[in-house]
Parts: sequence; structure tokens; C-alpha cells
Amino acid sequence: MKCVFCGGKLKNKNVTFSYEAGNNRFFVENVPAEVCSSCGEQTYQPEIADKLLKYARMQDKASKTIEVPVHEFA
Ligand SMILES: [Zn+2]
Repeated sequence: MKCVFCGGKLKNKNVTFSYEAGNNRFFVENVPAEVCSSCGEQTYQPEIADKLLKYARMQDKASKTIEVPVHEFA
């Protein structure tokens, strides 16, 4: 597969996904992704993206977070 942005080579790699929307901010560690070796763009498979969205919804339930939560992707 090639990068949709620059046409560079994609490599399978586990990455740390970071999410930020307003006060909602968290990380998910060891997320399988395809990373472009040229521009660094990270692409996720649809089922991976779905799981990441679930983490985002879980964060919505918290009224206040002092430390940034880090999930282990599983
Ligand atoms: Zn690229």
C-alpha cells in the first residue's frame, strides 16, 4: 500500500494514538497502524479506528481528569 498523501511507502507499526478535542485528551498505546516512511502520516484500519472512537466515548463519561489516561490497545 502507498500513502494517500505523498505516495510514500507504508509500514506496519505500533504507534501511540493521541486524541485531543476540547478538554478531552488521551493516548492509546501500541495501536497497530500503517505509517508512511516519507511524511509520517498514520493510517488505521476501520476496525482499529472504531475501537479508538470507543475510547473517546469512554473519556466523555469522566467529569474531570487530572492525569492524562493512557490505554493499552488490546
Ligand atoms: Zn506520506
